[in-house]
Amino acid sequence: MLMAADKYQDIRDAIRDLCAQFPSEYFRQIDEARGYPEAFVDALTQAGWLAALIPQEYGGSGLGLTEASVIMEEINRAGGNSGACHGQMYNMGTLLRHGSEQQKRAWLPKIASGELRLQSMAVTEPTTGTDTTQLKTTAVRRADRYVVNGQKVWISRVQHSDLMILLARTTPLSEVTKKSEGMSIFLVDLHQAIGQGMTVRPIANMVNHETNELFFDNLEIPAENLIGEEGKGFRYILDGLNAERTLIAAECIGDGYWFIDKVSKYVNERMVFGRPIGQNQGVQFPITRAWINLSAANLMRFEACELFDASKPCGAQANMAKLLAADASWEAANACLQFHGGFGFANEYDVERKFRETRLYQVAPISTNLILSYVAEHVLGLPRSF
Ligand SMILES: Cc1cc2nc3c(=O)[nH]c(=O)nc-3n(C[C@H](O)[C@H](O)[C@H](O)COP(=O)(O)OP(=O)(O)OC[C@H]3O[C@@H](n4cnc5c(N)ncnc54)[C@H](O)[C@@H]3O)c2cc1C
Repeated sequence: MLMAADKYQDIRDAIRDLCAQFPSEYFRQIDEARGYPEAFVDALTQAGWLAALIPQEYGGSGLGLTEASVIMEEINRAGGNSGACHGQMYNMGTLLRHGSEQQKRAWLPKIASGELRLQSMAVTEPTTGTDTTQLKTTAVRRADRYVVNGQKVWISRVQHSDLMILLARTTPLSEVTKKSEGMSIFLVDLHQAIGQGMTVRPIANMVNHETNELFFDNLEIPAENLIGEEGKGFRYILDGLNAERTLIAAECIGDGYWFIDKVSKYVNERMVFGRPIGQNQGVQFPITRAWINLSAANLMRFEACELFDASKPCGAQANMAKLLAADASWEAANACLQFHGGFGFANEYDVERKFRETRLYQVAPISTNLILSYVAEHVLGLPRSF
């Protein structure tokens, strides 16, 4: 595909080499078995890629969000699915930015070496959805512990993680002046929690995304596992969301390139009415439009990355990158499925799998409507709607 080389070519080459050991058939079989790509995640961890954002003093490689985004993009571009492991990239940032020195020394080197996985973050609840400040899960301080009660939904990778970041209300909503105050984040040791106050119920779903309902019934968390100041957790979580959105944008871009490569090859080869189907402009134009939109989304993604890495405000760019990239990858997915005709529906072409995977990003980790609402209010200054 026509693309200028960028300065991240070394990372791209290294990830492509690693992914070559885990071809599409590997991810297809994992998808069919509804399994977890253990071997792939282990290889990625052992090669140090999942510790990209951990500073060198804690055993990571101290790279920026830009490089991390290239890693995620290349995995999806190679036919894989970063959704199995992307949580560690952005969850770790919460600990890094807001954890105490003692917490960072205790956890980060082990996360960097792969001894521990921090793949999960529990925010969403069944009754409150996107309206996070209304969450019902509570954590009440009792001497040297917090006692947690409540419920979460759609919490991913819990069964394949050792640690989880939990957002819970520590001061009742009625006692705070701003609804965004009074929530706190905790690092939960999943091995200590599961079966001892925390129950995990897997949710069968359209994509092979290991995701779960969580129930908390007097789960006790040591007070030293509180991250940052009590009551400031919502702000800490928001800080991490720009990184999450930008990384997911990069994954969508990787998906989009995969779809365009796949369909371009196919329409050049598939002969109907005595000529390649790609000779028809009715076939060329949807593919081309998706490619153009993908290229534009890619620029916004790099702008968001650069701002984030320079510690400048990047909320608008991170959100816009996510929306543009999710839309472009979905457009590319539709074109790819359409022009494979019936074969697009056959598992062995991987198109239907990637189609399902990329569709998720219209809804999670934030839905397209909520991005539009953010940009309308915070960038354009339109009246607040909720
Ligand atoms: C596979 C998967 C994995 C996930 N993993 C995690 C995880 O690890 N941790 C976690 O905390 N959460 C996770 N989530 C949850 C995800 O972040 C939420 O599903 C998402 O933020 C949408 O929230 P909701 O499902 O509650 O939708 P709701 O808030 O109920 O909204 C439903 C739809 O209504 C529309 N809508 C809602 N409010 C408005 C409004 N004000 N204006 C216009 N439209 C609106 C939007 O289109 C939205 O898609 C995951 C979800 C999925 C499906």
